[in-house]
Amino acid sequence: MLISGAEIAGYRPVDLRCTGERIVEIGVALQRRAGETRLDAGGGALLPGLHDHHIHLYALAAAQLSVDCGPPQVTSPGALARALQGRALQLQQRHARLHQEPPGTTGWIRGTGYHDSVAGALDRWHLDRMVAERPVRVQHRSGKLWMLNSAACALLNLDRPRAHPLVESGIERDDSGRATGRLFRLDDWLRDQLGNRDVPDLSHTSLQLAGMGVTGVTDATPTNSATLLALLTTAVQSGQLLQRVLLMGDEQLPEPGHRLLTRGPLKILLDDYRLPAFDGLCERIARTHCQDRSVAIHCVTPTELVFALSALIETGSMPGDRIEHASVTPDAALALLRDAAVTVVTQPGLVRERGDQYLAEVERREQPWLYRCRSLVDSGIPLGGSTDAPYGSADPWSAMAAAVQRRTRSGQNIGSTEQLSPERALALFTSSATAPGGPPRRLAPGMLADLCLLDRPWADARARLTAGDVAATIRGGEVIYRRDTAQTPPLD
Ligand SMILES: [Zn+2]
Repeated sequence: MLISGAEIAGYRPVDLRCTGERIVEIGVALQRRAGETRLDAGGGALLPGLHDHHIHLYALAAAQLSVDCGPPQVTSPGALARALQGRALQLQQRHARLHQEPPGTTGWIRGTGYHDSVAGALDRWHLDRMVAERPVRVQHRSGKLWMLNSAACALLNLDRPRAHPLVESGIERDDSGRATGRLFRLDDWLRDQLGNRDVPDLSHTSLQLAGMGVTGVTDATPTNSATLLALLTTAVQSGQLLQRVLLMGDEQLPEPGHRLLTRGPLKILLDDYRLPAFDGLCERIARTHCQDRSVAIHCVTPTELVFALSALIETGSMPGDRIEHASVTPDAALALLRDAAVTVVTQPGLVRERGDQYLAEVERREQPWLYRCRSLVDSGIPLGGSTDAPYGSADPWSAMAAAVQRRTRSGQNIGSTEQLSPERALALFTSSATAPGGPPRRLAPGMLADLCLLDRPWADARARLTAGDVAATIRGGEVIYRRDTAQTPPLD
């Protein structure tokens, strides 16, 4: 493929050729070869494809694919019916476009947040009148009740009495013994029954990420295991998942066998209230290092941060070791971070998304320490960026803008001295997957052709930092998103 007339590292017009999955040539007025596809960049900036260094893919897909079934979004039976039917229609259109129904996965419509004020005590017959052709399950806001339509009841064979008394007692039945579709406190059982069918389809989420220039992600879910790896492998093989994935996980996570998947650090969760024994944590880190694997330690509070850093200093760190979040970093911890020689992976987007809540709830003294950026960079601490979606918005551009502006939704400042330049903010998301705090990946012959093409020069884009400027996304020399041909109506 030949990308012509782009701006690369401030120069334009420049052409870039990739063959297979790599960049092979960068130059001026490169000749198009016979049979070569050409993408006219129109003077737009060609950047390294973005890498979100901390995200939760399946949780994001599940959140995007769930229908909000309660107030304030939905407040009447008619609104509930429209919400469920709207989702049924979207699924139908999407599957028609993909020419296939992914086996057993997304046929289900999943609703959350139901409240009785919407349509009373829902049962299968109420739900059947809203959506009959697909299995539907709606979770009550209290979390103790699922309501299923008849298609779902049939798939789970609910009309047959269950031998297990605990299961049977959770299935509500009418006088004739038929299941009403109301399941009480049967979450675990339901999850077992659904098995892989409960795993959301990643295609919508993946396309949406591609539309924002994302060519790679690091999935930071601590429970990632062999089972999840098998699912992800199927997802990349089938083309459902377009991004490269660096996969964090537990000790049991095997080495992946697909070129788009790589095993990443061991994820260690720390929790202020029940910190592990210090020696135990040191041993766990050392054992992981012995296998040539780095660690990623989740630290939200100053106590967790200091505890983790002390363990890393005690054990000695290795390249790739990282602190996730460092949500509150006191000045004293800056020196520790440097001594520990670890990378921090931050979420500047939360300053915007949750900032107003932080200003109300976080102690005044600690507010300047929230999601620090500039002071880490100035102290020589490698810093990478991420969204932590679905816990933050999945839009990396919005996170970059927040790193530059440091403003909450209502316009209040948080840690204004922590502002980054647009270039440094971009670098948070263009470093390599295995070195989130390292330099931006270069566009040069021999490098993987993971690219993000903007519709305007960087001088214009830097003042906006918006995903709307992404014109095309290329992963491994393959176009995975083109704005002018995209047909992906947002699901959320
Ligand atoms: Zn996370």
